[in-house]
Amino acid sequence: MFFSNESNLCRAHASSDEICLKDCCPVRYLREVESYINRAERSLDVCMYILSCQLLSNAIVNAHKRGVFVRIIMDRHMASNESAQTALFYNNGVPIRLKDLGVLMHHKFAIVDNDIVITGSMNWTMSGFFGNFENLLVTNHRLLLQPFIDEFDSLWKTFSNFSNMYLEPLIEPLVANSGQ
Ligand SMILES: [Zn+2]
Repeated sequence: MFFSNESNLCRAHASSDEICLKDCCPVRYLREVESYINRAERSLDVCMYILSCQLLSNAIVNAHKRGVFVRIIMDRHMASNESAQTALFYNNGVPIRLKDLGVLMHHKFAIVDNDIVITGSMNWTMSGFFGNFENLLVTNHRLLLQPFIDEFDSLWKTFSNFSNMYLEPLIEPLVANSGQ
């Protein structure tokens, strides 16, 4: 999937059922990514520098609610950004681990049921889907998939010691701002 400055033209029909004839319609791509999340039955691992897209964040929370084993890794700095959905995940009990300040946790990939990986340049943000030149690749090719599975497991272990002491002070103002 490729996104460009023209992706912004489709933003107007993001929340409607309008049929769009563009070859690279970002609304269609967004719903495709959502459908992969909705298809998750066993596990969903998301490793994303910044995750602010409401549609995909809700799909992640819904996966957690239906019993899928969800894990989220984010960059600590970006997780505290007001647009990030950190409070939504935290309030719904979705496990989150954060990369400390310093070198960025700049990955953008997600693994569904250890069966497919979604990766590319794009953070799951509205400007990613509707404004930037970006790419997303979805594959179930084992040779490509397995290193991402291994890398996520490794990162999850690496960040285990840091996350709890960072997460709660970061969450408090976000929860206060979200009115919950
Ligand atoms: Zn469109």
